[in-house]
Amino acid sequence: MQALAPGSIIGILGGGQLGRMLALAAARLGFKCHIYNDAAGPACEVAAAATLGRFDDVEKLKTFAGAVDVVTYEFENVPVAAAATVERITPVRPGLKALQVSQDRLEEKRFVSGLGLPVAPFASIESAQDFATALRAVPLPAILKTRRMGYDGKGQARVATAPELPTAHAEIGGVPATLEAIVDFGCEVSVLLVRGSDGETRFYDIPVNRHDGGILDTSRVPCDLCERHQARAKAIAHTLAAALHYVGVLAVEMFHTGDAAEPLIVNEFAPRVHNSGHWTIDACAVSQFENHIRAIAGWPLGTTERHSDARMQNLIGADVGDWRRLAGEPGACLHLYGKAEARPGRKMGHVTWLKPRTGGP
Ligand code: AMP
Repeated sequence: MQALAPGSIIGILGGGQLGRMLALAAARLGFKCHIYNDAAGPACEVAAAATLGRFDDVEKLKTFAGAVDVVTYEFENVPVAAAATVERITPVRPGLKALQVSQDRLEEKRFVSGLGLPVAPFASIESAQDFATALRAVPLPAILKTRRMGYDGKGQARVATAPELPTAHAEIGGVPATLEAIVDFGCEVSVLLVRGSDGETRFYDIPVNRHDGGILDTSRVPCDLCERHQARAKAIAHTLAAALHYVGVLAVEMFHTGDAAEPLIVNEFAPRVHNSGHWTIDACAVSQFENHIRAIAGWPLGTTERHSDARMQNLIGADVGDWRRLAGEPGACLHLYGKAEARPGRKMGHVTWLKPRTGGP
């Protein structure tokens, strides 16, 4: 693949904070970004151009695709049909397969387990007729999750006993869902890798992630996993990336059970830069955002090495009101996304605290 020259235009489907941080990283390498989104958002403010259009507006999507040199996406719920329209004109990286699989929890679980990778016992629930079969396949307690459009813990209900399943299904709107066994984990980690078009793959150090109410709260590096378990986690993510012929940054979220035979279980993957990798902006010479841009532009990958220990904390909703204090705190790197309204649950920014690196990954 020919490397895109500086000055080329990178198209981004989606206009949130991930698009914003991608556009900032792209600008550092001399690229321009053109955002396509259905509403103005944090990315539009820092990009060279923006098209506001619906994701089913084929003509607008075609015009956008014709105006850019490569296209990527910053959220996994971009309709596959929209990405396919764009792909007929301009390359889309990572490809459509990663997008299509990650949009549907059932397909995702089937894909990951089909590769022989570890996932929690799961079953499909289309309607009430599937309850009995699902309960035979999945030990309780379990979580019922909508197949589509679930993120940050939305569209989920816990099921402790069999009679709770119908209520839980009604609670999530009676839509097609997966029932998944609850994993008794010690901690949650994510593997962030970048894969070039030639298959070269590099890994960032593995963060340990703490969630609060289904939303990522903090990510910390280094994590406490032993070297063997970290190697296993990376091997799992590597297999997944290779199977998807992936180009760009991939995030694979896993539960660490510490079990001797299989210490990790894949929860889900995101075919994009990821919140649990935000610390790489301040703790690495080349962030996840820059490496994603490098990969999709056919450039040599940058180093993924970490020069500092880091703890990233999301600023959710009213947390952002603390910006003045955080801005004055030594060692705190403050990132604000420029969102006007601090609604509960809304990611408004993040802060990363750095410390000199203490040693190994
Ligand atoms: P998800 O939307 O699948 O990322 O789920 C959000 C959070 O809910 C995860 O980060 C976990 O903390 C928790 N969770 C989801 N699925 C499971 C599971 N099968 N077992 C235990 N905890 C889970």
